[in-house]
Amino acid sequence: MDEGPLEQRILSVARANGLEVDDVKQVDASKQNTRVSANVSGLFGTRRIALNDNLLNQASADGVEAVMAHEVGHYVLNHQWKLITYLFLIFVACFAGANIGFKAISKSHGKHWGIRGIDDYAGLPLLYAVATVFMFISTPVMFRITYIHEYEADLFAINATQNPDAWAEVALMTADYRKLHPPAWEENWLNHHPSPYVRIFTAMRWKAEQPELTNVRDDHDEKPD
Ligand SMILES: [Zn+2]
Repeated sequence: MDEGPLEQRILSVARANGLEVDDVKQVDASKQNTRVSANVSGLFGTRRIALNDNLLNQASADGVEAVMAHEVGHYVLNHQWKLITYLFLIFVACFAGANIGFKAISKSHGKHWGIRGIDDYAGLPLLYAVATVFMFISTPVMFRITYIHEYEADLFAINATQNPDAWAEVALMTADYRKLHPPAWEENWLNHHPSPYVRIFTAMRWKAEQPELTNVRDDHDEKPD
């Protein structure tokens, strides 16, 4: 992205949380869609901070900083490694469940269907059907794990920037493509990101409890145009 005060603020949030980076990459996404997006990625000592031009065009400088602090949070809290570990465990559980389910069903129906065992190609449709059931059941669990990581990164962003208003601002922007306030069962099991309602509530709860820490920066919104 263009060098300037906003890039310096993003780099400063990163450095303050132990993430050494020299510049922020800007992704040209506005030709394809209007969704705001950003990420911090890297493995084994390499790292990259990127944001897309939709975020720069739509959010205030404080909002951009809040989003980038959220992404720094994902990196610093090792969310990518945790996600890989959880996914691995879920896949192992699904394969184990498919194995148990296949054996139970083929024991009673195997002869009738001409299935000799789990290594018989004739059993592939049954194995696929049983595995699909377990994958379906595991979907809300995977969503829940992602959701918890997102919520952690939200709190990280608010604490790192001490600017709950900025977080509320960008949370509201996601209402373009997310339900504002879904029912609790949908929020908890079908959402992989907190709804705008939960995100704004989280920010305002922080602000109510820590008014003396709240960083109000409206007076120097130095976003380049
Ligand atoms: Zn996130």
